[in-house]
Amino acid sequence: MRALRLPNWKSEPEVVEVDEPTPGPGEVVVKIGGAGACHSDLHLMDDFENGSAPWNPPFTLGHENAGWVHTLGTGVTGLAVGQPVAVYGPWGCGTCERCRVGVDPYCENLAGAPAPGGGGGLGLDGGMAEYELVPDARHLVPLPDGLDPVLAAPLTDAGLTPYHAIRRSWAKLPPGSTAVVIGVGGLGHVGVQILKATTAARVIAVDTREEALKLAEGYGAELTLLSGPRTAEEIRKATPGGRGADVVLDFVGADVTMALGLAAARTVGDLTVVGIAGGTLPVSFFSVPYELSVQTTYWGSRPELAEVLELGARGLVRPKITRFDLEDAPIAYREMRQGSLEGRAVIVP
Ligand code: NAD
Ligand code: ZN
Ligand code: ZN
Repeated sequence: MRALRLPNWKSEPEVVEVDEPTPGPGEVVVKIGGAGACHSDLHLMDDFENGSAPWNPPFTLGHENAGWVHTLGTGVTGLAVGQPVAVYGPWGCGTCERCRVGVDPYCENLAGAPAPGGGGGLGLDGGMAEYELVPDARHLVPLPDGLDPVLAAPLTDAGLTPYHAIRRSWAKLPPGSTAVVIGVGGLGHVGVQILKATTAARVIAVDTREEALKLAEGYGAELTLLSGPRTAEEIRKATPGGRGADVVLDFVGADVTMALGLAAARTVGDLTVVGIAGGTLPVSFFSVPYELSVQTTYWGSRPELAEVLELGARGLVRPKITRFDLEDAPIAYREMRQGSLEGRAVIVP
């Protein structure tokens, strides 16, 4: 079969011919319907090196995947060949306290995880191929009726990651509150939709690209701002009494966006850093609003994935998708790097 593989750190991925996988006991092979292209893959190509992760290339890219059950390993029950499924991407040990409640990204038994901190497309072979080997049937979530795997694929990361970040801040987003989304690309444009679908907050979207802001406006953002030196002030001005934003979601994570998030945040608010551009934020008693919580989040839980898929099936969250053939996957990443992609690129093998 054909697969898009990352051959080394600091290299571009290439489409090559590899063996079709066969499932061992408890494993499942999924026929891929769609595999989303994430900016984290660009970080893998550009920034990672030996020692950055407990695993190394080569592996097949693609960590947001959905498709149909193709072959079942011995002992797998509860799934049928041909059944549409989403692949839950973070693959932990399955037995530690975190994994037991479906929070595999925070698995605490790294020695027991197949690719610590990762999964298919992050250390192990992912879904940018005709078939993906999923090492445990528990990583498959049946798709709700009517949800196309091409649409479901980006929901497993570009949907699940912002959903988790927003869900944990729900209590701070009552009517009258303000949420700011910084970076309205693959994750951020879904984040705007999740805020609209699950909270009553006013949504302010910030990006460096006009087209991204148009997309955010189309999904219901009340205010869109091209980021610049006055953005924090503009956000404050748009909140009652200039008090600032209750929740800031930073889908970039650079020094400049984290500083913006801090300058725009309200006391007792949340500043959640999701983007991994490597920025830092100095914290001191006098430099941050009182009781502002600053946190990073990584991916989301298995129960949350079922909730996001439900939002997708009901049409409340609908990623803007650009489709690419497997052969054209390198073009999708090139466009993402240039900033000319709208929404999410999904590779359809
Ligand atoms: P993307 O390239 O699709 O979107 C990034 C958006 O940010 C673009 O619209 C871009 O114009 C905008 N942007 C860039 N610099 C900006 C700035 N200074 N100010 C405002 N906007 C700016 O990327 P994506 O796939 O949505 O991923 C976003 C980030 O989240 C990446 O760093 C990615 O690695 C990371 N990520 C983290 C997790 C997690 O679990 N924490 C999961 C997936 C992705
Ligand atoms: Zn990702
Ligand atoms: Zn675990």
